[in-house]
Amino acid sequence: MIEYDIAIIGAGPAGCAAARECSLRGLRVVIIEKKKIPRHKACSGILIPDSINTLSKHFGNLPHDVMAVPSHINVMRMHFPRGNIGDIPINGLMIRRDKFDAWLCGVSGAEVLDGTKMQSFSEKRDGVDLRCVKQTGETLAIHSKIVIASDGGSSNMVKKIDPSLKEKLPWYVALQNTYACECNLEPGYFHFFAVPQISSYTSAYMKDELLIMEVVVKRGEKASVAMDRFKEYLWRRIDIEEARLVRQLGCSITYAAPRGIFCFGTDRVLVAGEASGLLNFFGEGISSALASGIIAGNVASNSIQKNIMPGPLYLQEIEKEKRKTISTFNYMKLLFKGGGAFNFRKGFKTLKWSKRALLCKNFFIWLLTLKK
Ligand SMILES: Cc1cc2nc3c(=O)[nH]c(=O)nc-3n(C[C@H](O)[C@H](O)[C@H](O)COP(=O)(O)OP(=O)(O)OC[C@H]3O[C@@H](n4cnc5c(N)ncnc54)[C@H](O)[C@@H]3O)c2cc1C
Repeated sequence: MIEYDIAIIGAGPAGCAAARECSLRGLRVVIIEKKKIPRHKACSGILIPDSINTLSKHFGNLPHDVMAVPSHINVMRMHFPRGNIGDIPINGLMIRRDKFDAWLCGVSGAEVLDGTKMQSFSEKRDGVDLRCVKQTGETLAIHSKIVIASDGGSSNMVKKIDPSLKEKLPWYVALQNTYACECNLEPGYFHFFAVPQISSYTSAYMKDELLIMEVVVKRGEKASVAMDRFKEYLWRRIDIEEARLVRQLGCSITYAAPRGIFCFGTDRVLVAGEASGLLNFFGEGISSALASGIIAGNVASNSIQKNIMPGPLYLQEIEKEKRKTISTFNYMKLLFKGGGAFNFRKGFKTLKWSKRALLCKNFFIWLLTLKK
């Protein structure tokens, strides 16, 4: 049995942020990651100002090779049915997720066991026993005082902690295809298609001279069929004649926040990042993964130093981040208050009143289709 103070499951932004907080406090920390690092993850890789601020405060400057080309995304161009469009300022950075997560992992200060899957866990009075399996088939037994579960949107740890959650939430499948092709889609724009006939969340953008297309469908529907619909819709508009599929990634996602359904763990297992339900509107999750990872790491470190149970303390400390995520689904605030990551108010100001009214109407129609 290998002993650690803290074992962290998942080497995404939440796990790495938690690991860094604990390592800086002198604790013995391990990150267990089932994939080999660097690993790809279905994600547009847009860092909103909250993510950028947290990173510069807790991790320092982003290395050059983490930044994509172009490195800035300034506008989310919303496309509605019948060709209506609206430009929303977003002020984001665009990163390469494989390199970004590998960098976070490297500077986390933790021992990293990649290619190692956490298979089962059992909580004891003095800690948590973990059973892990390496890609080679070798098994590992680990004991740690506290576990931070940051194993992403379809967290197996959360399924074990609260099996009823899976049934309570509506699940979606995201599919991301990357193509090498010649096309005239403007770099520096994130194109969002609020066109329910294609999929619930449909987007396209250029990154590192590759075209990236994303669709999201309800579980049970075929994401590949939605992707075909999207190709049919987009490709003639941006003059694509030939394209080579470079990469295909998928994952399950759910929106827990609008339903107020979260899982932050047990006495000794703290759930952070998307695993806990912290996913913001428009599928933005890196900011809350980093923030909740830092909170979990701090709570875990304080609990070990003061010899107190971390779970109840974490529930108190995470409340603010939970409220923040819920507030991103306040559509009136999103559209009319301004100041958030997606500045609809500023975008609307550039439009005539009739166009503003039309875009608001289209936006609400799209939202209504999501609720069906
Ligand atoms: C199509 C799409 C586009 C998105 N675009 C953006 C965007 O532009 N900006 C943004 O902020 N957010 C975006 N998101 C959301 C964002 O990717 C996630 O919210 C974020 O990665 C969550 O971070 P995390 O650390 O909680 O989990 P993850 O980044 O998912 O990391 C979890 C890790 O846990 C590992 N793991 C899982 N199970 C085990 C196990 N049993 N044992 C060991 N390891 C395990 C996984 O391999 C993974 O590496 C997007 C999501 C999707 C689907």
